[in-house]
Amino acid sequence: MYYKKYGNTDMMVSAVGLGTMRYDEEDIKAGRLEKCAEIPLYALEKGINYWDTAPLYCDDKSEIVTGIALSQVQRSDVYVTSKVNLGTLKQDTSRDAFRRRLETSLARLKTDYIDFYHMWCMLNLDSWQRHMDTIYRFFEEAKAEGLIRNIVFSSHMQGNDIEKVVETGKFKGMLIGYNALNYRFRQSGIKAAHEKGMGVVVMNPLGGGMIPQNPEAFSYLTEGTDLTVPQAALRFVASHKEITVALAGCTTKQHVDDAVKAVENLEEKTAEEVAAQYEGKGVSLNNLCTGCAYCKGCPKGIEIPKFMDSYNQYILTGRKEAITDRLSGHWSVKKEMAAECIGCGNCERQCTQHLPIIERLKEIGTM
Ligand code: SF4
Ligand code: SF4
Repeated sequence: MYYKKYGNTDMMVSAVGLGTMRYDEEDIKAGRLEKCAEIPLYALEKGINYWDTAPLYCDDKSEIVTGIALSQVQRSDVYVTSKVNLGTLKQDTSRDAFRRRLETSLARLKTDYIDFYHMWCMLNLDSWQRHMDTIYRFFEEAKAEGLIRNIVFSSHMQGNDIEKVVETGKFKGMLIGYNALNYRFRQSGIKAAHEKGMGVVVMNPLGGGMIPQNPEAFSYLTEGTDLTVPQAALRFVASHKEITVALAGCTTKQHVDDAVKAVENLEEKTAEEVAAQYEGKGVSLNNLCTGCAYCKGCPKGIEIPKFMDSYNQYILTGRKEAITDRLSGHWSVKKEMAAECIGCGNCERQCTQHLPIIERLKEIGTM
């Protein structure tokens, strides 16, 4: 395993981390949690010492599974994370609500401390500021008590906004979505964090499944390697000097092995060197929907991620008919629904990729 130093700390973390939101669904449903816990145990055996978990993942069982594994290993051999935001506190900004949430995570993880506790899912600066004004002080208090070791945040903000948060110097590290789809507009954020001495952990390195689903469009990532497209996409992320850990969601031991292989003999490069290496290769990917589904709550009931996923097919194949093929063939959605959009802008304000959703729906509606 290839290890990197986490920001300006002395912690050495594996270049690939275990994303614990993909424990086997059937096993989770059937309550076979011990069986699911074999995955983090196997990951550690293979050198993966960074385990990222959170409430709500896997029907709210991920922390419990991860705790089962954590209780079977030397605690200091693993860096474990969890997360909290106003949503998980049910918008209750009191100290009690925060402590209840933190204590629940500690109990589920069967541990006295969490290595990295995230202020979770900051969609924009407003939401970040709300969290700073209300619960940040509780993070600091818990840190002083040794219940959490490092205060970090997770975000879907764009480069410039991330830079503003980084500038505050309030966080040891951050977790952001970064991949071969969106790297061009996320690079300034990871560079700013790295320069500030922060650790940078990356979620969603496969672009919400889009990269493995379109292997031809992304085959350029595998050039000169014996890796599969998903492995090459993981390596792409991990190879950035500015990035400390690339998370890989693993359901099976094979997934763990695949992730480990992806970073064998890793060579680190700066974000500029990576950009130069891939300049002009592949299609223009910044405009793709990642399927994150943050654009919820359309007043007209339009299933936006399905429409935007179908629009992706057009961007990836260059065929306009691919949109309608995907809508009807894959999603069983009527394209006429797109014309129902009243342009309220709610979805665009939530969109983590900042896509022109209204314009695209208009285009689909008139096809
Ligand atoms: S802009 Fe259109 S698609 Fe977006 S939330 Fe409003 S009505 Fe729905
Ligand atoms: S349209 Fe935007 S918010 Fe909605 S799923 Fe796609 S990327 Fe996510």
